[in-house]
Amino acid sequence: MRTLLVAGNWKMHGNRASNRALLDAVLAGIESLQGVECAVCVPFPYLGEVAGRLATTRLAWGAQNVSEHAQGAFTGEVSAPMLAEFGCRYVLVGHSERRQLYRETDAVVAAKFAAVLAQGMTPILCLGETLEERDAGRTEQVVGRQLEAVFALNEKKSFEKAVVAYEPVWAIGTGRTASPVQAQEVHAFLRTRLLPQTRILYGGSVKRENAAALFSMKDVDGGLIGGASLVAGDFTAIARAAQRRD
Ligand code: PEP
Repeated sequence: MRTLLVAGNWKMHGNRASNRALLDAVLAGIESLQGVECAVCVPFPYLGEVAGRLATTRLAWGAQNVSEHAQGAFTGEVSAPMLAEFGCRYVLVGHSERRQLYRETDAVVAAKFAAVLAQGMTPILCLGETLEERDAGRTEQVVGRQLEAVFALNEKKSFEKAVVAYEPVWAIGTGRTASPVQAQEVHAFLRTRLLPQTRILYGGSVKRENAAALFSMKDVDGGLIGGASLVAGDFTAIARAAQRRD
């Protein structure tokens, strides 16, 4: 049995006051939830403060990126040991915005995945195809290639702990969501390459209106939520929708 995970990706949004208000409202909203794990992935400068606020709560927290290097002359980067020192649980690796805007290659993503695991944290490995690739019938080939690069550096066993997020690029921040059947098809394909216990999240315009249908799919083990994670009522409604599909 896989516990569903609903993880927010705040991206580059927020400030200290708005973060406090958002966290307070999310904590109140998820108080009575059962059988769902919730997390927020926040911008680097807020990690320490968020860690303090969430320390004794049921809301886990994570980072949105990490360096593949443990230390050294890498100006502007943040290492996995630094994140681990704060008690960070999750780290997004390979988000499509990092792959597209910052030219992160499959090999770099694989190295980041290894760096996170080496510090005892949980990578959330993001995979997904562009619209052009989907239209060309290459979805499985693309996500398969992204996954193979991670296997080249990491044992399959590492997926006992790691989380995967299938995020079709054409659905991120566009308001266009994969249908539950489209999501399930890719999740089922990924499942054949992963382990029965690996959680595979869906990400891409998940909203309170479509979350339950997506989470009802057999291999959709929760969601990675961008825009809707910035609105406490929406994020908590999505978390409620994940409250078990037995
Ligand atoms: C994301 O940033 O990972 C994401 C899925 O964004 P959105 O929910 O806004 O599409």
